[in-house]
Amino acid sequence: MESIFNLDNQNSNLDSKIVAGLVRVSQVFKTLLLEKSKEYQLSPIQIQLLIFIEYHDKDKSTISYLAKEFNLSKPTISDTIKLLEKKLYITKTFDKNDSRSYTINLTPTGKMIVLETENFIDPLTKIIKNSALNKKLILWESITNMIKQLNELEIISVQRTCLKCKFYSKKSNQSFCSLLNQNLKIEDIRIDCLDFE
Ligand code: SF4
Repeated sequence: MESIFNLDNQNSNLDSKIVAGLVRVSQVFKTLLLEKSKEYQLSPIQIQLLIFIEYHDKDKSTISYLAKEFNLSKPTISDTIKLLEKKLYITKTFDKNDSRSYTINLTPTGKMIVLETENFIDPLTKIIKNSALNKKLILWESITNMIKQLNELEIISVQRTCLKCKFYSKKSNQSFCSLLNQNLKIEDIRIDCLDFE
């Protein structure tokens, strides 16, 4: 396959330009997160973990789940959690039947840090908000399909999207969720559903 980073290839090929554009956007995400992490003297992954724990169920706030979610090793997540505990941003609730196993809870200070840092993504949110609805729908359909295919290639290991959910079906081009008992339009497709199975 021709290199997308070779500008002669990139500039004469739409596929390469789209992939190069996605790389740029992912760099923006990293830059914004890094700026915020410097401001709060936290690492990017510490901020990401705090935000994830705040908005997901307890069964997803375990070392194993977080390791899969963020494609990191269990020791790396465990060390990061230890540092967050030292900073008094999280506490651990140990399993009564297994003293090595625990779920992670945010302290009130941890919750405050989430409120203050989660706006790192605002510049991207504003751009999307100002786009026309028809363009957003096309973009959303492409993103959800891309995520599904990346999961099938085992590049994204955890995902809770309709397109891989047992409650999802598609008949005559119409998506349907049997749990919510409703048709799903493009804008209804989720990539992180609390009811995903
Ligand atoms: S809305 Fe949730 S429960 Fe329904 S199909 Fe999508 S992921 Fe599954």
